[in-house]
Amino acid sequence: MKVLKFGGTSVGTVASLRNVKKIVDGLPEPAVIVVSALGGLTDQLISTARMAAENAFEYRNVMKEIRERHLRIVDEMIPENRRVRVWEAVSILLGDLENLYTGISLIRDVPEKTLAAIVSYGERMSSIIVAGMLENADHYDSLDIVRTEKWFERNIADRALTDKRIKETFELPLARHAVMGGFISTDRNSGEITNLGRGGSDYTAALVAAALNAGELEIWTDVDGFLTTDPRIIPDARIIDSMTFIESMELCNFGAKVIYPPTIYPVFHKNIPIKILNTFNSTAPGTLISDHISESARVCGISMVNNMAIISIEGKLTSNVAEINSRAYNVMARHGISVAVVCQPMDNATFMLSLSGADSDKAVSLLQADFMPEISAGTVSEISLRKEQSLIAVVGEGIKQLKGLGARLTNTLERNGIEVRALSDGPSETTIAIAVDTDVAKKALSLVHSSCFN
Ligand code: ADP
Ligand code: ASP
Ligand code: MG
Repeated sequence: MKVLKFGGTSVGTVASLRNVKKIVDGLPEPAVIVVSALGGLTDQLISTARMAAENAFEYRNVMKEIRERHLRIVDEMIPENRRVRVWEAVSILLGDLENLYTGISLIRDVPEKTLAAIVSYGERMSSIIVAGMLENADHYDSLDIVRTEKWFERNIADRALTDKRIKETFELPLARHAVMGGFISTDRNSGEITNLGRGGSDYTAALVAAALNAGELEIWTDVDGFLTTDPRIIPDARIIDSMTFIESMELCNFGAKVIYPPTIYPVFHKNIPIKILNTFNSTAPGTLISDHISESARVCGISMVNNMAIISIEGKLTSNVAEINSRAYNVMARHGISVAVVCQPMDNATFMLSLSGADSDKAVSLLQADFMPEISAGTVSEISLRKEQSLIAVVGEGIKQLKGLGARLTNTLERNGIEVRALSDGPSETTIAIAVDTDVAKKALSLVHSSCFN
């Protein structure tokens, strides 16, 4: 049994939905189909909420557009015998959505909870439409299946409870296709609507695949596979035929948008292969992500993440680098801040860590408090912050065997006038991370990409 996930562009238009139908109709056996909201709708639902809060009546026009877009798709895609039933179900949701917007325009505020409820309508409607469009499919309500819990300010999947709910919901072998919305969930305690984070439909599909021990997870999107880097920045990026779970995890953690990062872990754990496939070119082989490691070390791909910061801890660190490392990590972990990379000092004088720019002011205050004794004693002379950084991650199993790669890339960048702010060539076996100023990051990515792949 397979789990297939179709992203927003795959379910965005009548033409793309026809492709989806063809792909699902061609399956040899029933599958679980996880779908995103119609392409662009989640952004539109959010911006419309802001519009309504400013009491701009424009929101009513957008609501009309949203209604018409769904109606048109229902009209074109749902066979006549089911059309009225599907349209009624979608209409009820559209009515509820409009009421929420009216409420917002009256109170002139968008509480977080209301925004979470609003964005849920995207996947609730698209999943009903896709289930109705297929001949042999039942619709399942993800709000009854996927449960989240609070983790600091975020909602994260409650894996155990969600696993249990998935197993209770789907009886194997499936008699018919099962269609559900991705991304959306409910809080396990309050029952309020939540979600798994932007791009989270991939993760829903992985949770289902893992719970049901699926044979494969297919992520259907709008490119021919996982590419050597972001094709929107580097148009000549190439398709990667196959890669390991770890490689995909590293590339996605460092910004490759093609899969939502938490997705890989549940399937990796169960050794369920992932395929990245193109809804608009369904015969292309795509990319296979599995536990198979290619024989020779190679650079698999390169990704880039913006809005990062570097914190440097400077001083006479010679004797206690390991301690500083673990203390810095622990302080961050206790406050729910994740550290992207650590750069061990070559000169034993500057220890650097890189993390999200949004967390960086708080992180500096926390580090200053924690290292107060060393600051007083003079072993730490300064804790400084550099914002507007981009991290370029060069990823490949066994990359450390490619001796001198870090130095070669640093040279290439510096020869082209780009200063490398930090280089993490140490702890991870699969990744070399290079920090550069964001205003030169695209140029840096292009240089690193051509240096690795030409
Ligand atoms: P979906 O709506 O199907 O979830 P996304 O927009 O989330 O699609 O992800 C697919 C997009 O990710 C592609 O259109 C591509 O522009 C972008 N992308 C960024 N980095 C990569 C990469 N390394 N390989 C493939 N696609 C990438
Ligand atoms: N519709 C959601 C989003 O746009 C989830 C997803 O597409 O994966 O973020
Ligand atoms: Mg996506």
